[in-house]
Amino acid sequence: MTDGAKVVEEVWVFGLLGNPVSHSLSPKMHRAAFEAMGIEAEYVAFPVVNLEQAVMGIRGLGIRGASVTIPFKEEIMSLLDEVDRIASLIGAVNTLVNDHGVLTGTNTDWLGLKRALESRISIRGKRIAILGAGGAARAAVYGVMAGRGEPILLNRTPQRAMRAAKDLGCGWAPWEGLGDLKAHILVNATPIGMFPKSHECPVEPELLSQFHLVVDMVYNPPRTRLLEEAEARGVGTMNGVEMLVQQGAEQIRIWTGMEPPVQIMRKAVMKALGEGDED
Ligand code: NAP
Repeated sequence: MTDGAKVVEEVWVFGLLGNPVSHSLSPKMHRAAFEAMGIEAEYVAFPVVNLEQAVMGIRGLGIRGASVTIPFKEEIMSLLDEVDRIASLIGAVNTLVNDHGVLTGTNTDWLGLKRALESRISIRGKRIAILGAGGAARAAVYGVMAGRGEPILLNRTPQRAMRAAKDLGCGWAPWEGLGDLKAHILVNATPIGMFPKSHECPVEPELLSQFHLVVDMVYNPPRTRLLEEAEARGVGTMNGVEMLVQQGAEQIRIWTGMEPPVQIMRKAVMKALGEGDED
């Protein structure tokens, strides 16, 4: 750069690290947010072939932040300069911040789920059964505990539920024990029922009548078989859209320090799912 050259006003670049990423709704959601906020920014979905090189690329290209999704939420932790306390406890990073070359990993899934649940029901003192023991389930446990609820983990591989329960300080039960569990809310934090295997249901439908609310983290399709079976039994339901929007809104807040346009983000997601206004 010559002495007289001016620094060109920079465009912020953000990315999604995952594989596959082609079906992700995050680009549409985040681009809608940046546009509404008047922020000149790009958000690009990167189908990552080599995570270590991708992280080097973030440093080299000065990418300001990234969302991290399947299958890299755990693997990325060892490649960053810092991982904050909550993401370390959950054991998964879904948000990366590049602060002048220092890469920090954090997690917003827990807050996304907490806010989604609390938009419908008070979770304080409620027993909440969570299916799964991966990053999403562990984030759900943290979110429920932050809202003073009582999470119970149930997982196909019991050792994994046991391990997560020990790490996070919650209860666990065998996958087959759901029928004996007295719980207010059921949260599916497994991919069962996700497109294209939309006919699959993670639990025996007869067991759903005991719950006040059944929540599916899956959002594609928006009405999973699990939610249909719960609805058929008069049980309240919620899909994964609100969690997706709320975790994304928190990413925007972290990256920009500004209030995210949650309603616009929600509308962008609904539209992409064919559920929103056509305007
Ligand atoms: P993950 O780490 O791969 O964990 C998947 C979990 O599902 C594991 O506990 C696994 O059990 C269980 N599982 C998978 N297939 C199963 C089957 N056929 N029968 C019984 N259990 C099965 O995945 P993750 O990152 O936690 O994500 C889980 C789901 O949450 C995904 O569908 C993801 O898209 C969704 N999610 C949604 C949001 C949102 O914003 N809405 C955010 C995060 C995640 P084992 O331990 O026995 O293998």
